[in-house]
Amino acid sequence: MEKKQELYRGKAKSVYATDDANHYIMYFRDDTSALDGQIIKQLDRKGRTNNHFNFFIMKKLEAAGIPVHVEELLSDRECLVKKLDMVPVECVVRNVSAGSICKRLGVAEGLELNPPTFEFFLKNDALHDPMVNDSHIISFGWGTQEQMDEMRRLSYKVNDVLKALFDEAGLILVDYKLEFGLYEGKLMLGDEFSPDGCRLWDKQTRKKLDKDRFRQGLGDVIEGYEEVARRIGCPL
Ligand code: ADP
Ligand code: UDP
Repeated sequence: MEKKQELYRGKAKSVYATDDANHYIMYFRDDTSALDGQIIKQLDRKGRTNNHFNFFIMKKLEAAGIPVHVEELLSDRECLVKKLDMVPVECVVRNVSAGSICKRLGVAEGLELNPPTFEFFLKNDALHDPMVNDSHIISFGWGTQEQMDEMRRLSYKVNDVLKALFDEAGLILVDYKLEFGLYEGKLMLGDEFSPDGCRLWDKQTRKKLDKDRFRQGLGDVIEGYEEVARRIGCPL
């Protein structure tokens, strides 16, 4: 498939048209952002690591029956995906408290959340991705109740698959963000799953091995991602 013009340049990835109207090429750059894009830094090997990581995880999810947009790994930084009409909300599942929920609710980091929580956030950097609920999503026309029910169901299904996968690798899946879109009217998991959009802690030491290493200036950011990849058997 031939790569055509860049259609969208996000904070970490670029989306390219192809000669097929139903497919895009997702290109993983080395850019790493924090504070809704106010801080951006290049990190060596990041694009490549996240591209391989995402492909590996998406294929595991597909094997578990979750519809995914990923089709083919084209190169170290490029992946062929189905062109989705994205639902402009982020779905966040949390197994353990960390990040924004601690600030919002004044709770300590590291509390086990049973059952895991589910939240929607509006994708809008200028507004710092505010939390929204079903009522907002319907009233403003960002999605239907049926789509939200399906996004919630699929997000929890992803949790069942990935909590077990990371647990076997000695890791705690603390939380993660998913994005969904429509392909021929059907909801599918889009965007990426990588340590950029989830939190992973070592089970024994609770060492952070995800993007919090960047957000909190802990150093060895990509080394953390590579360690996770190695432990789950993802080739880089
Ligand atoms: P952001 O837009 O948040 O800065 P990225 O840098 O990751 O994020 O850019 C990737 C963009 O591509 C996101 O806006 C995401 O919603 C969108 N996207 C991901 N997968 C698909 C897809 N299969 N079809 C269309 N758009 C997609
Ligand atoms: N997340 C993300 N993109 C966003 C917001 C959050 O990938 O725009 C991920 C984040 O990495 C974490 C989870 O979603 O794994 C929950 O994030 P949180 O709401 O705690 O926000 P944060 O404090 O990370 O901004």
